[in-house]
Amino acid sequence: MTSHDQPSADPDAVGPGGWIADRMSLIDASGIRRIFDLAAGMDQKVDLSIGQPHFETPEPIRRALAAAVEAGHNGYSPSPGIAPLRDALQQHVDALYQHDDRRVMVTSGTSGGLVLAMMSLVQPGDEVILFDPGFMMYRHLVNLAGGTCVTIETYPDFAVDVDRVADAITDRTKAIVYNSPGNPTGAMDEAGTIDDLARLADQHQVALISDEIYSRFCYDRPFHSPAAANPRTLVIDGFSKSHSMTGWRLGFTHGPVEIIDQMIKLQQFTFVCAPHPVQWAGLAAMDVEISDHVEDYRKKRDRLVEKLAGHFGVGGGAGAFYLFLEPPGGNGSEFVARAIKNGLLIIPGSVFSQRDTHIRVSFAVDDQTLDAGADLLTKLATGSEA
Ligand code: PMP
Repeated sequence: MTSHDQPSADPDAVGPGGWIADRMSLIDASGIRRIFDLAAGMDQKVDLSIGQPHFETPEPIRRALAAAVEAGHNGYSPSPGIAPLRDALQQHVDALYQHDDRRVMVTSGTSGGLVLAMMSLVQPGDEVILFDPGFMMYRHLVNLAGGTCVTIETYPDFAVDVDRVADAITDRTKAIVYNSPGNPTGAMDEAGTIDDLARLADQHQVALISDEIYSRFCYDRPFHSPAAANPRTLVIDGFSKSHSMTGWRLGFTHGPVEIIDQMIKLQQFTFVCAPHPVQWAGLAAMDVEISDHVEDYRKKRDRLVEKLAGHFGVGGGAGAFYLFLEPPGGNGSEFVARAIKNGLLIIPGSVFSQRDTHIRVSFAVDDQTLDAGADLLTKLATGSEA
């Protein structure tokens, strides 16, 4: 008989003796889960909570997926992705940046790229600079990797202040995670600010991780990547939002070969590969024009801002498909509770932030839903709801 300390038989127990790893207590999904639970209990709802495009996946992409399945592309693919997609992405990236060392790999969604990047770069004791408000996955991944989140607030206009980033850098800073256009604010920094941030990271030898999943959705100025000014930027991107493929799990990452090699190694023993037939659909997606959809979203953004600007504080909104609004009274959760009572589903800012002063509203909906949502938001802001 061997004698080992037995874990407690309670598989739900967290902490010493329980089966659940301590690190799981670092993930708090209660905020977003509460919203899902409330949504499930609503019979009639106007839903402005959704974080994905409302248009159908374009037909050529759907056909390419069906054809790939029929052609038998159903087994594993090489871990870094199928050669035709990798080559097409590499050509696209090389046309944008003439970096000798920039290599592309295909991932299981943008999220897959983020997981591999964080696990490959962040180790216990490392500090990672994040902006608040921001996409909540970053903070959870840094914590899982044993790193420490150093948060810089960007209220009220959600613009990055590079001097504040410089002040936050210590000799333990490993990485900065940047997301422009960003979720939940839709904010985009000026190109000059992005270049300054990129150079700052370069000077301090800090890894710059740029999540560019919303890069196709820019309304007021062209997209600008920090990779233009910092050749060692690790860019995380994907097809989910641009081509309405969120359920298909296809992303790609490009950056310095030494990092990409480590990420491929980890992908081999975690995700194995991105879904194989979907990679062929991704190849087809590269030839699909989405500018009409972007134009449609620009109009929706304008329409919503026009209806709400007199009632809410509006910052950001230059890209992506969200507005991050400050309701009168400045209490996000309270406002969301009232919205839900009135059949409107939106997300409290506290899901993305240490502050609970804002709400996230998505305009990736049809015009009828958008107008119904704007009317309800106005009524709630003026206290004239039912
Ligand atoms: N980054 C940001 C900023 C996002 O908003 C999302 C999706 N909500 C993702 C990454 C994850 O996207 P994917 O579906 O490609 O994993």
